[in-house]
Amino acid sequence: MLSVVHPADRKSLTEALEAVTTGKERMLNGNCRWINIKGDVVWVNYRGKVLCDNLGKPSLMIGRVSEEALRHLFNPLTGLWNKPKMREDLKVLLEKQVGYLMLFDIDGLAAINLRHGRAYGDTLLKAVAELLDTHDLITAAYHIDHNNFAAVINADTTEDVEAVFVSLQREMYDKCTFTACAVPINRDFFHDVSSLLDSINLTLKKAKQNKRGHLAFFSVDEIGQRIRSLALLEEFQASVQNGCEGFEVFYQPQVKTGNYDLYAVEALLRYQSPVRGRVFPDEFIPILESSRLIDTVGLWVLEQSLLQCKAWRDHIPDLHVSVNFSIVQFEDIFITEKIMGILNATGMPGEALTIEITESLQLQESPQFSACVKSLKALGVSFSIDDFGTGYSNLGYLKQMNVDEIKIDRIFVSGIEKNTYNHRLIENILEFAKMSAIRVCCEGIESIRELAILEGLNPDLLQGYLFAKPASAADIERTFIDCGTAEYEQHMEFIHKIYHVKEKMGVIHFDPKDILRETDVGLWIIRINEADRYFEMHADETMERIMAVERKVTPQECFVHWQSRICESHVDYVHKNLMHMMNVNKVVQLEYPWMHPILGRVMVRSNGKRVKDSDGMIVLEGYQKIVSNMEVV
Ligand code: C2E
Ligand code: CA
Ligand code: CA
Repeated sequence: MLSVVHPADRKSLTEALEAVTTGKERMLNGNCRWINIKGDVVWVNYRGKVLCDNLGKPSLMIGRVSEEALRHLFNPLTGLWNKPKMREDLKVLLEKQVGYLMLFDIDGLAAINLRHGRAYGDTLLKAVAELLDTHDLITAAYHIDHNNFAAVINADTTEDVEAVFVSLQREMYDKCTFTACAVPINRDFFHDVSSLLDSINLTLKKAKQNKRGHLAFFSVDEIGQRIRSLALLEEFQASVQNGCEGFEVFYQPQVKTGNYDLYAVEALLRYQSPVRGRVFPDEFIPILESSRLIDTVGLWVLEQSLLQCKAWRDHIPDLHVSVNFSIVQFEDIFITEKIMGILNATGMPGEALTIEITESLQLQESPQFSACVKSLKALGVSFSIDDFGTGYSNLGYLKQMNVDEIKIDRIFVSGIEKNTYNHRLIENILEFAKMSAIRVCCEGIESIRELAILEGLNPDLLQGYLFAKPASAADIERTFIDCGTAEYEQHMEFIHKIYHVKEKMGVIHFDPKDILRETDVGLWIIRINEADRYFEMHADETMERIMAVERKVTPQECFVHWQSRICESHVDYVHKNLMHMMNVNKVVQLEYPWMHPILGRVMVRSNGKRVKDSDGMIVLEGYQKIVSNMEVV
């Protein structure tokens, strides 16, 4: 009989038979594979009972071999157990809490089938099955479906599991690669087989999105997060059926620079879950987007905000409302008509509405979005690029796209009083925006100090916790709209306090740049990425003037302009001093001859110091002056 048993199962069958012949066991019950007359693998279940002689020694076994009992438990192609069998086995294994379950896919099997034919693909599947079957540390292997396999690995640590995965990859390196994930078979993480399988499936899905050809491990936090997302999704589906029940639109004021009058409110969505409490957009917007529920919820937000704005216009006649849109909403080919429909139904003019959309490359490639912008702009609707500076910033594109507003993200605004690079950046954006008649809103202003510095740059609108956190319509009404309330009074007092503090800080009346301009002291920032040998020089107006560099040059070109004009004799000297500046925490002064495009050879003096790195680049900051033409008494 052993000759027809699959080689991989001979050992276990022999051991089981030995246990009954030696009298250790009285019953035989197990599964193994036989090779049938056609050479195919067939799973059989064997059962037997031992009969003993007069002396009590085993002498005879009566039993049966059945193919039928297992027919529905294995995959006919590879002969490995299938998914129902895996579920059964896992039930037992979870009780014992041993080892890891690894789930994996053969990468690109469909393409392999296409290229080499189905028969080749089948051979590959069989080869993988055999590999799993014969691996020392794999105690059970399953063929789930198509390209998907699972294996129970007898391992205590993730390193051991990794080693098994690597050995599988190595065996098959010339035929295919695997993407896999593994979870511990452990009751602490999974209370039943279903939760274990849900988690492992999610982990594999994520692993495939991230990077193919790798093994990922289950992370408790991540899975918890995923499970929460799925539960929220279910709640949202029900909510959408129910007129967006549980969702509420909060509003955050945008005020005008200078007098801090209310210009607009930005609609910011909130969700109140009956089981989870308040949930914030950073968590739920991605869920709404991937499930496409954002289409319905987004239009609901638009309608609510327009109605609210309309009501508040009784008090503030030209109040505006800004509504966030996700780029996926523009995949709807009727989006323009739907927005127009809501404007009509609410009786609001297009001028009242600003559509905020987060800057992204996708945006630039969406013809649908461009078409929508065109049609709605004709009705007076404004378009605003949100989180400007965080993604694919391209000022030229904004101009071409004809946007009306840019919102500068909080990461540039926060701590602006200490960060000259950000200061310069915002200054540049504002300069460009003014030229292109684009409105600029600075977001996330939290302190009067930030406010004071920003106002020096004169953006159009200001938004942030300093003025108000996003709040319910009722709260906003009490603080900003209804002038008879205590909250309104308090807010007015606060605005006076802002004036007062600013005056005391002296920031409004003191512009150090004037004196720098008068004395021809130019400010520069050099940013260096040493690894890529990439250099930038950012120059203020005076610096540009004293270097006679054109206004439009890029920071890279500016650096080249400066560097290429250092007189030959001093190139080494300047280079050494820059290196020195990078390495010491002190101001370094250098003086060198420089070929001015108009004046010819001049002596310049520069003082600079290394400041905090930014975007992984070394940043040097300093000033420069031409000293050869200075008046000396
Ligand atoms: P966003 O459009 O950039 O909105 C500004 C976010 O910054 C809001 O977070 C706001 O509460 C917060 N914020 C405002 N001022 C300050 C400040 O001074 N300091 C700090 N630390 N934060 C401030 P929120 O409400 O959690 O919204 C997060 C994001 O979710 C929004 O970013 C927006 O992209 C998205 N979102 C919100 N509502 C909707 C919506 O109805 N539809 C779509 N598609 N997206 C939405
Ligand atoms: Ca926004
Ligand atoms: Ca923003």
